[in-house]
Amino acid sequence: MSLSDELYKEVILDHYENPRNFGTIENPDVKEAGANPLCGDELELFINFDGDKIKEIKFHGKGCSISQASASMMTDVVTGKGTDYAKDVINQFKGMIVEDKEPNFSEDLEDLESLNGVKKYPVRVKCAVLAWNTLEKAIKESEK
Ligand code: ZN
Repeated sequence: MSLSDELYKEVILDHYENPRNFGTIENPDVKEAGANPLCGDELELFINFDGDKIKEIKFHGKGCSISQASASMMTDVVTGKGTDYAKDVINQFKGMIVEDKEPNFSEDLEDLESLNGVKKYPVRVKCAVLAWNTLEKAIKESEK
């Protein structure tokens, strides 16, 4: 196993054991649920917007380390950001894992590359993209 694989595993484990933005928001602007029955991952997102900016985002759920770590990283990188920025990151992340595209992440998004390895395991891909698909649905909901 290469050094970067070890490093990536540590990043994933850190987010799994110390999830960022874990919890709920009472009366959020948008609440969206997602699930990955194949693995048993469940996720709920709670978002408060300020205009088209994601002011606050929290997630709640249970599931495997990949799904929970991915949700933690996702909430971390989109907090305080505009929905256009969030959509761009969603596209880049899904492009990396689902379409095997080379990501073009800025430095503050580097943690996301730790999940790049899951594309080798088709069953885990759905775990990794669950939070991102749910965020995509939540943003669409907010634009209605
Ligand atoms: Zn899973």
